[in-house]
Amino acid sequence: VASVCGLTRVFGERTVIDGLDIDIERGEFVALLGRSGSGKSTLLRALAGLDPEASGALTVDGTVAVAFQEPRLLPWKRVIDNVALGLDRPKEAAYAALEEVGLAGLAKAWPLTLSGGEAQRASLARALVREPDLLLLDEPFSALDALTRITMHRLVLDLWTRHAGLGVLLVTHDVDEALRLADRVLVLGEGRIAYETRVGVARPRSTGDLVELRADLLE
Ligand code: ATP
Ligand code: MG
Repeated sequence: VASVCGLTRVFGERTVIDGLDIDIERGEFVALLGRSGSGKSTLLRALAGLDPEASGALTVDGTVAVAFQEPRLLPWKRVIDNVALGLDRPKEAAYAALEEVGLAGLAKAWPLTLSGGEAQRASLARALVREPDLLLLDEPFSALDALTRITMHRLVLDLWTRHAGLGVLLVTHDVDEALRLADRVLVLGEGRIAYETRVGVARPRSTGDLVELRADLLE
């Protein structure tokens, strides 16, 4: 559903993304790991077509929706209107999306009154309501408590299963989460995909695999 070839992004003297190649198949769930500052959010912005300074060949087959690391909700619009923003469909779709992320009760709330996790879920609803072909999620669960996080994992897997053909690229710092959710795990390092592993059908994988991947990450 998306293909990037030779992606490069330079900030001043620093090359953050350095000729990176990445392919995401239709219907594939990919997790992206990498140290803080390795360029994950930069890569997502480029993939979403939001970074005119990024160079390289980018093809996306369909529409892309992003849930940013910092939920970007317009503070002067209620939650429901944030979700429905720019949508040429009735508000019911926005309500349904809020329901899906367990936030229907806060539809009328103002964004600034939301907790971090609630704002993340609102942002996820806003991405989902667009029915994208490629969903880019930048640490969407980082501000959630452990229980809500598990609920959200189920929710995302559920949505992914229901939306046949939906490609997902999930940025996370949580190796277990990556292995639990994704078909394929990528690790970004030195501006490229430094490590890649396929996670068979049986998720989660054994603890042995986890330990091995952790060891790789720590090298
Ligand atoms: P984290 O896990 O902490 O979210 P990340 O992998 O998402 O990190 P990015 O936000 O992509 O990292 O940033 C990668 C590097 O690029 C960082 O060193 C950051 O300082 C730098 N960077 C990002 N955006 C800009 C910008 N607009 N101007 C200058 N430097 C930038
Ligand atoms: Mg980031």
